[in-house]
Amino acid sequence: MLNNLLVMKFGGTSMGSAERIQVAAHLSAEQHANRPVAIIVSAMSKVTDLLLDTLRKAEAGDEADLEANLKTLSERHIEACHALSLPEDRCARVLKQIDSVVQEFTRIARGMRLLGERPPRSVDEAIAVGERLSALLMAECLDCQGVPAAAINACNVIATDAVFGNASPLMEQTRQRAEKVLRPLLEERVLPVITGFNGSTLDGRPTTLGRGGSDFSASIIAAALDAAELWIWTDVDGIMTGDPRLIPGASVLDAVTYAEAAELAYNGAKVLHPRTLAPLAEREIPVWSKNSFAPSKPGTRIVPRLETVRGPHAVTSMADVALVSIEPANAALSGVKVMARSLDALARANIELLAITSSSYRQSFCFLVRQSELERATEFLEEDLALELAHDYLKPIQVDPNVGLIAVVGEGMRGTPGLAGRIFTAISRRQINIIAIAQGSSELTIAIVVSRAGLEEAVQAVHAECGLGSVALASGPAN
Ligand code: ADP
Ligand code: ASP
Ligand code: MG
Repeated sequence: MLNNLLVMKFGGTSMGSAERIQVAAHLSAEQHANRPVAIIVSAMSKVTDLLLDTLRKAEAGDEADLEANLKTLSERHIEACHALSLPEDRCARVLKQIDSVVQEFTRIARGMRLLGERPPRSVDEAIAVGERLSALLMAECLDCQGVPAAAINACNVIATDAVFGNASPLMEQTRQRAEKVLRPLLEERVLPVITGFNGSTLDGRPTTLGRGGSDFSASIIAAALDAAELWIWTDVDGIMTGDPRLIPGASVLDAVTYAEAAELAYNGAKVLHPRTLAPLAEREIPVWSKNSFAPSKPGTRIVPRLETVRGPHAVTSMADVALVSIEPANAALSGVKVMARSLDALARANIELLAITSSSYRQSFCFLVRQSELERATEFLEEDLALELAHDYLKPIQVDPNVGLIAVVGEGMRGTPGLAGRIFTAISRRQINIIAIAQGSSELTIAIVVSRAGLEEAVQAVHAECGLGSVALASGPAN
């Protein structure tokens, strides 16, 4: 009976108001009429930001703002509940449930105020509240549309390690939990409305999967239940050749491979959480990225491989990054050993390297990290290389925060002669400084570090040069 299971995920904007929740419920009901469906929901748009801000205010002892935020949280969901036009008794029941979840959050936030601290474990427990509230509203809305539904807290389904704030799933245990919690509901034709973003350790401590993690939740659930398909509903028509907020002429791609989607996400395309594709690879579950504001549009198909591939597919960028350079000052020092030790230090610090390049003669190398991880990265490096730095065997570690990353992605770029040259020319024609270049051995991505001030213009230039999108942008001044 579950042969044809469809897992769908609704993002923050698709859950952003009572009206949007009604649309999402309608889209779910439509599919549920023909096949088993499970859905994963994000918190209503901006609610996770609000929750995190509230906890920061609590830690800082900012009582007035803390209380104001709690009021906003409560009112947003009460208002949405009323606007769903539920029968009176159901509305009263949901309002009571909303109140009790908000009270739970309030207790944790006030506890942080008293302690003047924000322990990561308690943060994870607190911020899953956004998804718990939206799941309550969605399940009730579905019930009212005649689809029996149950709000499920994913902390009872997704098993994770104990990396609070950025947990990873334990798939075997998740599969067992999903069999126990979700399968009986699906077999009874009850539609599970599962909270995105959260999970719990094997001993039951609440965790979250990182910002934007509801996409990841959906792929974990799809894999755990051997779903036939995963549909990710968002607020754009699919995966596009570039971020539509930066590139007005960006166009929607019909299809991309798992590897391309992962590279795009990893290099800053917010449309998917970077870890979304990993759980699906083994069973090759196809994914669709679709627009809940325009559901009749086909969206983008994300599949293990494509029959024909051609040139670059998309361009993406990241602004909040920094370039760290390490350079030996003494020829007696082995550059390879310095690099090995630096990479080891970064691995122990759990820092993600976005790009890395080295020069063979001077044995210097530089790498790109997120600005949010910069302090921790330099702290670990300075500790590990303290001796060499103190004795001037190494030049002081250089950090350049005024940079941005551009990544050009496409399976079809493999062995395309002249493409890199054209991309670099397009950037330099705009008088934008290229600081570093990296290309993975898979030739799937060309990563270029440019000055931060020129980032937007460079992305637009590369998008146009690669012939992506529907509107060609005016080219820059010729050299
Ligand atoms: P959701 O709340 O549904 O998870 P997100 O805001 O996380 O949605 O992601 C969707 C947004 O991603 C879009 O509104 C768009 O601005 C942005 N985006 C960035 N790069 C791309 C891209 N290459 N294709 C599509 N959208 C992109
Ligand atoms: N609500 C979470 C966030 O805003 C997870 C998600 O929406 O994907 O990060
Ligand atoms: Mg998202």
